[in-house]
Amino acid sequence: MNMPPAVLVIDNLSLEFPAWRSTAKVLNGVSLRLHPGEIVGVIGESGSGKSVTALLSLRLLAEHSYRVTAGQLRVLGRDMLAASEAQLLKVRGRDIAMIFQEPMTALNPTRRIGRQMLDVIRHHQPLSKAQATERAVSLLRDMHIADPEAVMASYPFELSGGMRQRVMIALAFSCDPPLLIADEPTTALDVTVQRQVLLLLREKARARNTAVLLITHDMALVSQFCDRVYVMYTGAVVEHGPVHAVMAQPQHPYTQGLLAALPGQARPGAELHSIRGQVPDLAELPSGCTFRERCDKAMPACAQRPLLRGHGDHQRACWLEVGP
Ligand code: SF4
Repeated sequence: MNMPPAVLVIDNLSLEFPAWRSTAKVLNGVSLRLHPGEIVGVIGESGSGKSVTALLSLRLLAEHSYRVTAGQLRVLGRDMLAASEAQLLKVRGRDIAMIFQEPMTALNPTRRIGRQMLDVIRHHQPLSKAQATERAVSLLRDMHIADPEAVMASYPFELSGGMRQRVMIALAFSCDPPLLIADEPTTALDVTVQRQVLLLLREKARARNTAVLLITHDMALVSQFCDRVYVMYTGAVVEHGPVHAVMAQPQHPYTQGLLAALPGQARPGAELHSIRGQVPDLAELPSGCTFRERCDKAMPACAQRPLLRGHGDHQRACWLEVGP
């Protein structure tokens, strides 16, 4: 079966944050693809580069704070690294929408939800106020919000965290963007609300064939909601593949560590596994495999940097051989 063209293509992308004394190498040859209708997880500890990848896809990193040293990043074929500010303004919201961890950072606390929704909807679509209001009500209803009019009349602080995140998802879908990036969208919510919000996000994405990039540190969420996953470590992809394959047979010791740390994996009464050691300083990355200091399976060959390899669409950057 032929895959439709990718919505997001990242090829061999390297990026650094220059500073006075040292330069942090934040992305080191990241390649990633996202096709229409796919929900793809990007997982890793802080410092893995997952959020920088998300923010760069929308060019939301502060200009002049970073330097792209190699590679490309395309959304719907457009070179995002070369796009002008005017082009970016059109692309954001219409072609790519983003959902952040804390909706209060994206919602204006001094304006009612309805006003904010109408602003976003009318910015990208030539609708009258009445038509935009109708669209906003229908978007909120789609998010299973029973009384959309009451929510539209509310200020953000009058809503619960879960309700605010539903509003954000409704806003994100308001222009039917082909690509949605969700950066830790439910981390601030309790587990039950988290699940409800992600189920809604997936339902909407499936219905509209929207590609979703879900940035998270939570392997359990990836296993429940994603089709494919990219595991990142020190600014590089160390494993990627279909979620069922990565969950059933994780090939990189870092992925194995993340999975072993899932709550369900510990024996009753036993302590949860955690990966020993720390993520290395990105300004002083060791040569060879950057996971070496934390890896129980390290061997002499690991002094050389391993490149991604594997069979088909399940790949890992590790020198260990994997059984059939
Ligand atoms: Fe461990 Fe070596 Fe594989 Fe790196 S390449 S994860 S150090 S076995």
